[in-house]
Amino acid sequence: MLQFELSSTQKELQAKIREFAVREILPAVWHYDEKDEIPLFLLQKAFDGGLMNTDIPVKYGGRGLGLIESVILTEEMAAICPGVATSIFDNSLGMVPIYLSENEKIKEKYLPVILREFKRICFATSEPTMGSDVASIRCSAEKKGNDYILNGTKYWITNAGVADYMTIFATVDPAKQHEGICAFLVERNWDGVSVGKPIPKLGQRSSNTAGINLKNVRVPDENVIAQPGKGFVLAMKTFSRTRPTIGAFAVGAARSAMEYAIDYAKKRRAFGTNLSNFEAIAFKLAEMYQKVETSRLLVWKSAWEADSGMDSTISASIAKFYATEAAMEVVNDAMQIFGGYGYTKMFPIEKLLRDIRLLSIYEGTSEIQRLIVSGYVLNNYKPSMPSLEDLPMIRGLDLNDPSAKKVSAWRCRMCGHIHYGEEPPDECPYCFFPKTAFKKVWPVG
Ligand SMILES: Cc1cc2nc3c(=O)[nH]c(=O)nc-3n(C[C@H](O)[C@H](O)[C@H](O)COP(=O)(O)OP(=O)(O)OC[C@H]3O[C@@H](n4cnc5c(N)ncnc54)[C@H](O)[C@@H]3O)c2cc1C
Repeated sequence: MLQFELSSTQKELQAKIREFAVREILPAVWHYDEKDEIPLFLLQKAFDGGLMNTDIPVKYGGRGLGLIESVILTEEMAAICPGVATSIFDNSLGMVPIYLSENEKIKEKYLPVILREFKRICFATSEPTMGSDVASIRCSAEKKGNDYILNGTKYWITNAGVADYMTIFATVDPAKQHEGICAFLVERNWDGVSVGKPIPKLGQRSSNTAGINLKNVRVPDENVIAQPGKGFVLAMKTFSRTRPTIGAFAVGAARSAMEYAIDYAKKRRAFGTNLSNFEAIAFKLAEMYQKVETSRLLVWKSAWEADSGMDSTISASIAKFYATEAAMEVVNDAMQIFGGYGYTKMFPIEKLLRDIRLLSIYEGTSEIQRLIVSGYVLNNYKPSMPSLEDLPMIRGLDLNDPSAKKVSAWRCRMCGHIHYGEEPPDECPYCFFPKTAFKKVWPVG
């Protein structure tokens, strides 16, 4: 049975987060955007209210909520502030490689602590010289006895400045590309770990982004998340689980921009009537709503696939690039509806526009999502239609007449001309290709 309705528990979760986000987060966000600073106290409140780390598996004492619950939660948070939502979500991003790790000990050691104490964990694949091309990681991991020694710099790392733990991807040999990548859990206070100054940004200014420098950082074997050769796949599996959530950021931000625009259009007057009475505005609102709804469906489908144990790589990519690009259009339209006020800092649209620009860049740019999906479409997609050269485009033959079965039809594989007769013609009368260009398409089979 196909089912689009949330369960009563999911609806309760949604209502709880919505109430929390509007009451606690909304009033604080513009101040922190202006200060360009992470409001840690809001993260602490979300933690205290059980709204962080909801995906820690039951086995380690967590609630073990699924990706569906994560995207519901994220949509509500992002509707208020995509920057704060990123800061809250980042713990899950940092932890997914640990959940997926084959190293059971690391889960037993760290997950209960993250659950009990207000700990932040960040995720680091990117470096100053690479982001999209994960196989080209340069941060080095050198085996010394039972330990690894890490050297290098990770860059663009969300929450790096406030993290207690860091999921670091490195390589035993850059020349090995995918085969050399490994991953480690590094503690912030270990010798050789330092964090750079917060990177000033266009939007999401209430999330912290910084570089991490590793100088001869000794990582014990027990903190290996992925052994050399397994890190690249782990990073990709992590993205398959986290990309729907980026789609949920887009749904939340687009939804709130649309709601603000509806409110404004119903009240603002021009030419003696409300803006909402102009078809140009009402149709814009209809399309904004259409994009919010379609984006949410894609996000939920992909989260559902992941929760059902299916490979959600493709649906996650589609959800991410569709929803994040649709959100840009929606928020941009909202700004248009607000006119000049939309462009000012006195209304919420300009911040949303700045905040969501990031969504089609981090966690794999839109171009990378298109690479993934085009690779699938061209190589693995199973079509249901016959190939073009087998297409029985029969005309002038009544297939309801039993004698039609006695006639043969041949299709020219070059120009599509259909020839009727026992044999194909010696030459196509349209494109002049020889007899061998013809393929029998009728009777079928
Ligand atoms: C605010 C912020 C927070 C971030 N948080 C994190 C984090 O927590 N952890 C982390 O590891 N990283 C993080 N990132 C890094 C982010 O994931 C990268 O910026 C992103 O993956 C793109 O990498 P890049 O910036 O190196 O761009 P590049 O990889 O250099 O790409 C530049 C441009 O070229 C395009 N391009 C690259 N390769 C191809 C190709 N093969 N075909 C077509 N086009 C291509 C890209 O799509 C892009 O448009 C964050 C970035 C920002 C800005």
